[in-house]
Amino acid sequence: SLAGKTVIVTGSNSGIGLGVARSFAGAGAKIVLNSFTDNDDDHKLAKDMSEEFGTEVRYIQADMSKGDQCRALIEKAGACDILVNNAGIQHVAPIDEFPQDKWDAIIAINMSSAFHTTAAALPMMRKAGWGRIINIASAHGLRASPFKSAYVTAKHGVVGMTKTVGLETAKEQITCNAICPGYVLTPLVEAQIPDTAKEYNMSEDEVIEKVILAKQPSKEFATVEQIGDLAVFLASDSAAQITGQALPVDGGWTAA
Ligand code: NAD
Repeated sequence: SLAGKTVIVTGSNSGIGLGVARSFAGAGAKIVLNSFTDNDDDHKLAKDMSEEFGTEVRYIQADMSKGDQCRALIEKAGACDILVNNAGIQHVAPIDEFPQDKWDAIIAINMSSAFHTTAAALPMMRKAGWGRIINIASAHGLRASPFKSAYVTAKHGVVGMTKTVGLETAKEQITCNAICPGYVLTPLVEAQIPDTAKEYNMSEDEVIEKVILAKQPSKEFATVEQIGDLAVFLASDSAAQITGQALPVDGGWTAA
């Protein structure tokens, strides 16, 4: 059981991170929610989740684009048995027009944040003699698509980091794995539909059918619950020998 274990999920006031946090709350773990905002809604989300699942849920503000704040999140939480590196953003543009500030932000939030949180959390896991690191990478950690240079670069980097951390912790009761979702219908995906429509000169409906779900042989979006349930499994004792791996949840995308 995960009762008594503390789970920190970065970027968890929306989408997959929120879904993963809910799955862990359902499994009885204590939850730390995070984003860069500090709104009443963020704290209400934690309070409501705590009441719904009858477990401790805190919200800690920290900007995952800043290394120091990534490390401070782990320190403020005070415990970290399970770390889920999920925070991420997207920007869609050809590489020669890709805004430099967007490149820097995507590399920082989608990739470097996992370096900083992992570095801060590992000593706590070693002290506890147990730990799980779960990186929410992407099918774009294993395959590329045009116009997503920063995202594809960052996600391939996260898959590489996952393998390295898996090896560095192999002899300990600690595992590090990446989940590689295909398309999940979250605000991140909804937001890129208009820009993608522009790049491909298509309507938004055509983008969903011909660009987005074209990648996914199942022709269905994956769900946040499916990602959350896999994360809970990776935290279980049954998954103790799974480490350094990138596990696709992509309706067959990366089988092709
Ligand atoms: P989302 O936009 O719903 O969620 C992103 C989360 O990250 C939000 O909670 C947001 O507040 C947080 N965030 C953004 N910038 C942050 C910052 N600077 N500091 C702290 N938190 C920050 O999107 P999502 O689809 O749920 O994406 C979550 C993760 O899943 C991302 O890493 C994304 O790359 C990955 N992913 C998503 C899909 C998909 O199809 N939706 C597929 C593969 C991988």
